[in-house]
Amino acid sequence: MTVAVIGGGITGLALAHRLRARGTAAVVLESTSRVGGNVQTHARAGYLLEAGPNSFLDREPTTRELAETLGVSSRIRPADAAAKNRYIFTRGALRALPGSPPAFLKSDILPLASRLRVVGELFSGRNPTGSDESLAQLGRRHLGREATAVLLDAMQTGTYAGDPEQLSAEATFPQLVKFEREHRSLILGAIRAQRAARRAKAAGTAEAGPALSGQMSTFDGGLGVLVDALAKALGGAVRTDAKVEGLERTADGWKVRFQERGQPAELAASHVVLAVPAHVAAELLRPLDVELAQQADSIPYAPIAVVHLGFAAGTVPKPDGFGFLVPAVEGKAVLGTIHVSTTFPFRAEGGRVLLTCLMGGARRPEVVSRDEDALAALAREELKTMAGLTATPELTEVVRWPRGIPQYTVGHLERLAAMEERLKRWPGLHLTGNAYRGVGVNDCIREATRLADALGGPAEGAVRSA
Ligand SMILES: Cc1cc2nc3c(=O)[nH]c(=O)nc-3n(C[C@H](O)[C@H](O)[C@H](O)COP(=O)(O)OP(=O)(O)OC[C@H]3O[C@@H](n4cnc5c(N)ncnc54)[C@H](O)[C@@H]3O)c2cc1C
Repeated sequence: MTVAVIGGGITGLALAHRLRARGTAAVVLESTSRVGGNVQTHARAGYLLEAGPNSFLDREPTTRELAETLGVSSRIRPADAAAKNRYIFTRGALRALPGSPPAFLKSDILPLASRLRVVGELFSGRNPTGSDESLAQLGRRHLGREATAVLLDAMQTGTYAGDPEQLSAEATFPQLVKFEREHRSLILGAIRAQRAARRAKAAGTAEAGPALSGQMSTFDGGLGVLVDALAKALGGAVRTDAKVEGLERTADGWKVRFQERGQPAELAASHVVLAVPAHVAAELLRPLDVELAQQADSIPYAPIAVVHLGFAAGTVPKPDGFGFLVPAVEGKAVLGTIHVSTTFPFRAEGGRVLLTCLMGGARRPEVVSRDEDALAALAREELKTMAGLTATPELTEVVRWPRGIPQYTVGHLERLAAMEERLKRWPGLHLTGNAYRGVGVNDCIREATRLADALGGPAEGAVRSA
């Protein structure tokens, strides 16, 4: 059996690595000259910059296991204790996110009436329709308008940069929907889940699986360490500058047509895994199956811009905490700012301060099409208003992702089920990647691992992904 993995992002690399570890031949075809996809780390003038993901939550056994297999787990670095605090810019000020229910009641994160409404969550009801709904609908029923617009909005922004009126509650925060189904109240569900986890831990019966919380982490050389280790382990099994242009069903499997360094090439494989963004998968699928292509194409993406600002030592005070998020009601282009040098001090040498602003998202897509100088100027202007930061940075770097984060809109899980059904017509063809079952690096690795393990069995089509 040979598996052709299309796309050399973290999903494709983790998948091919797992397959090869299981003794299955796998080749990765990556269109660009470098692997890693969204994961791109580079050093510049005393700073370690991440163009895409900044960190992963160290709570998934599969991510740690992957790092262990590759011999890089000792290079994992958890966030500094100074990153414990998190802030939300709301009602014109940065306000600390309370760390416990009593602290929440005393805090100024929401006005008093809205804090009391959140306590009223204990008496809230289940989704009357039982079908998928938007995250905002779920939020308003349980937490009220203001907590939804401030807290829930900030929570989703940190992962999806999305619009909670559009995002599917079930696909984006399945834990909340599970709490509602099983316990009616989200607060009761969370309390009981914590208690059960503590009891299981004390009894030593905690199942191997994702914990409820984990430490925000990276590697000593950034997330690129994981990608480099995967690329090294895969060696010649990764072919870069290999842009896949067509798929063809053959008598005994698949033929993959691609351009390799400008030359037409072909590869025969028993299985093909599309580990590319959904819109790329749609174009490759269209000549085979228009319906499947349309289903993939209906997964939208939110554009996002990343603006790194580096400040020479002593020019700005060390910012407190991991960073802050900005709910959409504040009307800013900045969605959030990561205090990178506070969280991972080794990413800024000699006392420098590094901030990374994330801008645009599903509700301000036009922001991302501005030119780089305009984006950097806007980030600085808004940082001045929100964080009082007036110093001039010694480093400015802007990265734009026109299709940054896939959006799991209402009905997403139904769409996936329909796609799985459709894929049964195409034995040996599989879809995976961040467009389907989780957008985080952890999700991508978990789903890649699942698919690799499933491929050890009989050849069946399946939508598996992050
Ligand atoms: C700005 C930003 C910040 C993020 N922050 C975080 C974070 O802090 N933590 C976290 O966990 N996640 C974060 N994420 C999400 C996470 O980075 C991604 O979901 C994940 O890296 C996606 O991996 P992937 O392999 O599925 O897809 P991709 O990284 O998109 O990889 C797909 C690959 O396919 C290749 N390709 C495309 N077309 C073809 C073709 N025709 N032929 C061959 N190859 C092709 C592409 O070049 C690419 O290398 C962030 C994402 C962005 C954009």
